[in-house]
Amino acid sequence: MFIKKSLLVVGLIAGIAFAGSAAAQDEKSKPQVLFTNVNVFDGKNDMLAEGMSVLVEGNLIKKVAKGDIDAGPNATVIDGGGRTLMPGLIDTHQHIMITHGGPTDYKSKIDPYMNAYQSSYEAERMLLKGFTTIRDVGGPSVSLGKAIDQGLVIGPRIYSSQGAITATSGHMDFRNYNEYHPNMQGSGVTDAWLAMLGWAFIADGPAEVRRATREALRFGATQIKVMAGGGVASLYDPLESVGYSEAEFRAAVEAAKDYDTYVAIHAYNDISVRRAIKAGVLDCVHCHLVNEETVKMMADAGMWLGSLSNPPGLLEISWFTDENRRKARTILTGYDNVMGWAKKHGLKIAFGTDAAGGKAMFDGQLLEFKAREKHFTPAEMLKQATSNSAELLAMSNSRNPYKAGPLGVIQKGAYADILLYDGNPLKNINIVTAPAKTLRLVMKDGKIYKNTL
Ligand SMILES: [Zn+2]
Repeated sequence: MFIKKSLLVVGLIAGIAFAGSAAAQDEKSKPQVLFTNVNVFDGKNDMLAEGMSVLVEGNLIKKVAKGDIDAGPNATVIDGGGRTLMPGLIDTHQHIMITHGGPTDYKSKIDPYMNAYQSSYEAERMLLKGFTTIRDVGGPSVSLGKAIDQGLVIGPRIYSSQGAITATSGHMDFRNYNEYHPNMQGSGVTDAWLAMLGWAFIADGPAEVRRATREALRFGATQIKVMAGGGVASLYDPLESVGYSEAEFRAAVEAAKDYDTYVAIHAYNDISVRRAIKAGVLDCVHCHLVNEETVKMMADAGMWLGSLSNPPGLLEISWFTDENRRKARTILTGYDNVMGWAKKHGLKIAFGTDAAGGKAMFDGQLLEFKAREKHFTPAEMLKQATSNSAELLAMSNSRNPYKAGPLGVIQKGAYADILLYDGNPLKNINIVTAPAKTLRLVMKDGKIYKNTL
C-alpha cells in the first residue's frame, strides 16, 4: 500500500515537472509572424496608421508599432507592401446550419449529413471572404463551431445560440400545416425532425421558455435567441404579430442571466421590441418596421441594433411562397428609415447579414456594406463589422469561448484575426466587397488560411 502511494506521488511530481517543462518549451516555440510595411485600420480609429509593423505570436497579437519590430530569428516575415491590414470581419446574424434550402427541403430532401457538408462548405467560403467570426442566431451550430476550433473544418469562430426559441405559431414554427403540436395530439413526427434539425425550440409560457433557454445553454449556446414577433420565412406569424408576453421574455432573460449571458430577439414591429426592452433584452436583430420613437427607446435602454440587414438575395429565395415574398418586400421598405434613425439617435450598431436559406444569400453576404453606404462612411461600417460587433459578442461574458483577448481590433493582446487588402477600404468599401480580387491574406487565430502575396 505504502509503495503504491509513493510511486503515485513520484509519478505525480514527475508529471507536474514534465508538464512544466513542456509549457516552458511551448512558450519558447510559439510561432511568430511579423507583418512589415502595412497601413493599419485598428477597428476603432477612422484613419489608417501608416508604415506600421504587427507582430503575431501564437494566436495573439504581440506588438503593433510604427516602423520596425524586433522579432525572433524564426519569425515568418511578410512584407505588406503598403497594403491595408485590419481585423477580421464579424457577422452577428448568421444561420450557418440553414444554408442551401428551406424547411421543405430539409424535411424531405436533405439529411443531417448533407446539412453538415453544406454548412462546412459555407463556413470555409465565409472565412475566405474575410469573416473570421460569426454569431449564429438560430440553428444547431455549436458542433460546427467545435469542429472548426478543433481544426476539423475550416471556418470562422462561431458564437452559437443553438436553436432559437419560438412560440407555437411563431417565427420558425416550421411545422407543416397539418402537423399538430406534439402537446396537442401530435404524432411526434414534428418533434423528431425539429429535434434532428435543431433550428428552433417551440415553447409557450414562462416555464417552457425558461426550459428551452436552459436547453440551449445545455447544448453550449453562448447567447440566447428568442423569436419576439412575426417573421418572413415562416407562414403562421404575420409581421404584426407579437411572439411572447413580457413574462415569457423575462423568463428567457432571467435564465440567460443566470448563465451570465444575454438574449437577442428577432423582431420587426414596435410592440415586440418595446415589450422585450421592458423585460431586459439587450439586442434586436432586424427591427425593420419599428418607428422612430421605438428606436429612441432602444437607444435609451442601451439596446443593440445587432443586425438590421438588407439581403439582396431575399426575394429570390427559391422555396419562398408568394406570402413569404410579400412579407420580404414589406420588411425591406423599412430598412433605410430605421438605419437613418439608428444613426440619428446614436444606437449601438453591429454588422449582420441574415444569410440563410439559399446559396445566393451567402454569395451576397458582403453586399450589406453596399446597403449601408447610403448612411455610413466606410470607416463607420468597418467599425460596425469589427470592434462594435466584437463588443456585442463579448456580452456573452463567461459563456464566451474566446477569452484570451479581444476580437475585432488590432492591438497588443488581441486575437490575431487579420486581413490584408490591396488599397484602402476606408476610402472605398468596394475593396471589402470584392475579396476574390482584393483580399490578399486571411489569418485567423494566428494561422494563415489564404495568402496570395
Ligand atoms: Zn435571422
